[in-house]
Amino acid sequence: MNVERKVHIKSFGCQMNVYDSHRMADTLAPAGFTETTRVEDADLIVLNTCHIREKAQEKVFSELGRMRVLKEAAARAGRRVTIAVAGCVAQAQGEEIVRRAPSVDIVVGSQSYHRLPALLARAERNGAIVDTEFPVEDKFDNLEPPSREAIRARGVSAFVTVQEGCDKFCTFCVVPYTRGAEASRPAVKIIAEAERLAQAGVREITLLGQNVNAYHGQGPDGRPWPLARLLARLAQVRGIARLRYTTSHPRDMETSLIEAHRDLPSLMPYLHVPAQSGSDRMLERMNRRHTRADYLDMISRLRAARPDMAFSSDFIVGFPGESEHDFEATLSLIDEIGCAGAFSFKYSARPGTPAADMPGQIRENVKSERLRRLQAAIDRNAAAFNARCLGHTFDVLFEKPGRYPGQIVGRSPYLQPVQVMASQSSIGEVAAVTITEVSSNSLFGVLAREAGGVGG
Ligand code: SAM
Ligand code: SF4
Repeated sequence: MNVERKVHIKSFGCQMNVYDSHRMADTLAPAGFTETTRVEDADLIVLNTCHIREKAQEKVFSELGRMRVLKEAAARAGRRVTIAVAGCVAQAQGEEIVRRAPSVDIVVGSQSYHRLPALLARAERNGAIVDTEFPVEDKFDNLEPPSREAIRARGVSAFVTVQEGCDKFCTFCVVPYTRGAEASRPAVKIIAEAERLAQAGVREITLLGQNVNAYHGQGPDGRPWPLARLLARLAQVRGIARLRYTTSHPRDMETSLIEAHRDLPSLMPYLHVPAQSGSDRMLERMNRRHTRADYLDMISRLRAARPDMAFSSDFIVGFPGESEHDFEATLSLIDEIGCAGAFSFKYSARPGTPAADMPGQIRENVKSERLRRLQAAIDRNAAAFNARCLGHTFDVLFEKPGRYPGQIVGRSPYLQPVQVMASQSSIGEVAAVTITEVSSNSLFGVLAREAGGVGG
């Protein structure tokens, strides 16, 4: 019989790490681990890390400092605490982590976390262990499925990773090195996972991949399926009311996928598709393999297919060689798209990537000043989008109780939180809501009869 133990998993970075953290918890459950949100109670602490920018990586090391204090206090009280570092920092830095932070017992890369229970047993016997191989076995085939209770506890909206890795090699990005080559999961496995989630009450599934629209997993017919085909099949899963996918690359926005937005009502009219820059000169240096005109053409094709479509993006400021003129092209692109939202980043030089050695590295104060202006442009566009929602009626998926008694909160098709006075029993349901009030980061509404969209 397994001894009951507690695990605390802290996720850094992207949604793919959130998904991986859930799968780690599922895989540790048969070994007797239950999840705790209180790090002080944990027998095993897992930091699931992000390596995309230097700041994300350094956060992990400062967190490890705090974990060491906890571990030492537990040891004084006669309790053993094991510390594991997983994810992309683990993959990229391996042994270096144990050298910098000797309190770490396990370092496990993003492709081998299915081995966590075995690594734990080995670390308990033999001391610190580092496993950053890209193993021959498929981790997804070796992960435990989530229990019904675990699915319910995670809410009505769930992630499913369908694709990992990237072959695009943007010159600033570590993903091709930390997550490896592009690989897609077979469609039957994804369909089975979606059915299991739906049976436990999940109503919305977001398909995840570093480059999700490059999906080309094997279909049940033995042939590679594009993402559009997978989405069409998932739209048939009973109980699934909403489908989303993220993150997409503009180059892989194939016609079949654009048509899926026209043909599948459950595919939400909101797409995160990073542009990175509005300047062709920068896009070329970034090796993005698309131009500003390509990006805008993709947006207009999507809007033609689904007029209520809205967009969000990622932008990097201060990429090596970026002039004021290049930066202004990014600002004007945001206005031209009318972004409903966007993430903005200061360029961070990552060792081993081509851009880290490019001439024309931009000074920190210039990056900070551009970031402020970029964020102002993003906020202005997001506020305009939210303001356009006023008076509109659209479907909301209710997710949880709201802040005040009698209130519940859900998500609009565009992922905005929407607060409504309605019964708690509506959680998990999709209902039409008319937007009556808009604040900086929330919408307020009343239950209605008719559904529609805003787009634009
Ligand atoms: N695969 C997606 C794509 O192609 O757009 C996104 C992957 S990455 C996890 C998320 C975002 O981080 C990127 O879109 C980019 O804006 C940002 N990013 C990646 N590397 C960066 C770097 N070295 N410095 C600053 N931002 C970076
Ligand atoms: Fe990184 Fe995305 Fe470029 Fe791939 S496509 S290298 S994940 S930014």
